[in-house]
Amino acid sequence: TDLSSEEAIALDNEYGAHNYSPLDVVFSRAKGLNVWDPEGNHYYDFLSAYSALNQGHLHPKLVAAAINQTQTLSLSSRAFYNDIFPAFAEKICQTFDYEAVLPMNTGAEAVESALKIARKWATDVKGVPSGSVQIISACGCFHGRTLGAISMSCDPDATEGFHPLVPGQLKVDFGDLAGLEATLAEHGESVGALLLEPIQGEAGVVVPPDGYLAAARALCDKHNVLFIADEIQTGIARTGRMLAVDHDNVRPDIVLLGKALGGGIYPISAVLADRDVMDVITPGTHGSTFGGNPLGAAVAIAALDVVAEENLAATAQAKGEAFRARFAALRSPLIKTVRGKGLLNAFVMDTEALQGASATDLCHMLKDEGVLCKPTHGHIIRLAPPLTITDEEMDDVCERVETTLARL
Ligand code: PLP
Repeated sequence: TDLSSEEAIALDNEYGAHNYSPLDVVFSRAKGLNVWDPEGNHYYDFLSAYSALNQGHLHPKLVAAAINQTQTLSLSSRAFYNDIFPAFAEKICQTFDYEAVLPMNTGAEAVESALKIARKWATDVKGVPSGSVQIISACGCFHGRTLGAISMSCDPDATEGFHPLVPGQLKVDFGDLAGLEATLAEHGESVGALLLEPIQGEAGVVVPPDGYLAAARALCDKHNVLFIADEIQTGIARTGRMLAVDHDNVRPDIVLLGKALGGGIYPISAVLADRDVMDVITPGTHGSTFGGNPLGAAVAIAALDVVAEENLAATAQAKGEAFRARFAALRSPLIKTVRGKGLLNAFVMDTEALQGASATDLCHMLKDEGVLCKPTHGHIIRLAPPLTITDEEMDDVCERVETTLARL
């Protein structure tokens, strides 16, 4: 279109549902880490569409895969076979070392699918009476916006007005092993699964204590409970490993991927599991018209190829360490903590030192310096650039952030 920024924002407000409060920047063109608005102003993207752009905007290999596949075959539905999904299935299973993949489209759908698999596994295999299965999840979690996913949320904004929620939920504090142990001791027999984000993304990049994930895994084994890792935001090299659980040598029973699996080009999500779990789903019990479609599968193959060929996990690990070290050394009184793993990081702002300014104010100032990011809570700013960021770009962004902090 030839909409100006002002016109685009006005039209969005007039016709779009008001379910976000965007920063007033209009994306018109993008490449790698870079974004331009309709007037040609340049920005660095430090949100990466909530970690969906690990490979950067419009990676040439992904664009080529999308164009080629679109010109050959885009959709078969799984009423028939196609000749791309199987290649994707083999690739993703071999990449993450699982026996089977269930292809879906969005992150929330992968979560819903995993909840269904866990309930069916608990009923069919574990022997929990039908209708009594419970799922444990963690306070502060974010698993998406569908009814099942919000039913696990403790955030009133996510749930108020949407009741009745899906029953069968047990909550534990994230990182609290004793609490998890007690919950499993009391309810273990009826629990189908423990669902965790290895690092809570939307909660503000909350990293659990060392050893927590491995100990949670052991408790799941003890109580015959599936361990489900929601790696939709943390997976695909974001935290410096292919999966965030790899930092702890933990192998979940079910892994959920989304976002960067489609390289920012196409929505594709996946549920990974071994056969003993996956095969509780049989023909007619679950499905998706678009899940596993040739276009998405071709893009996802390329998305995984790019991550491997460009060594993005190792890059994220090294650049993330340098980033945290730089801002820790800066000792800005405004930043209480710099935390994260790989290139999933956050500044926890010191609200007193901000003297009435909010993290949102700071994001507006950063935008004026050409750096785009968003607060996750009132006082936390997530910083998550594409993993393809160069050292020069990183240096430039860090200087702009430092300049902005100095102005406050
Ligand atoms: N799970 C996690 C950990 C997420 O961060 C998100 C999105 O932010 C989702 C699930 C939901 O993904 P989607 O927005 O694609 O439904």
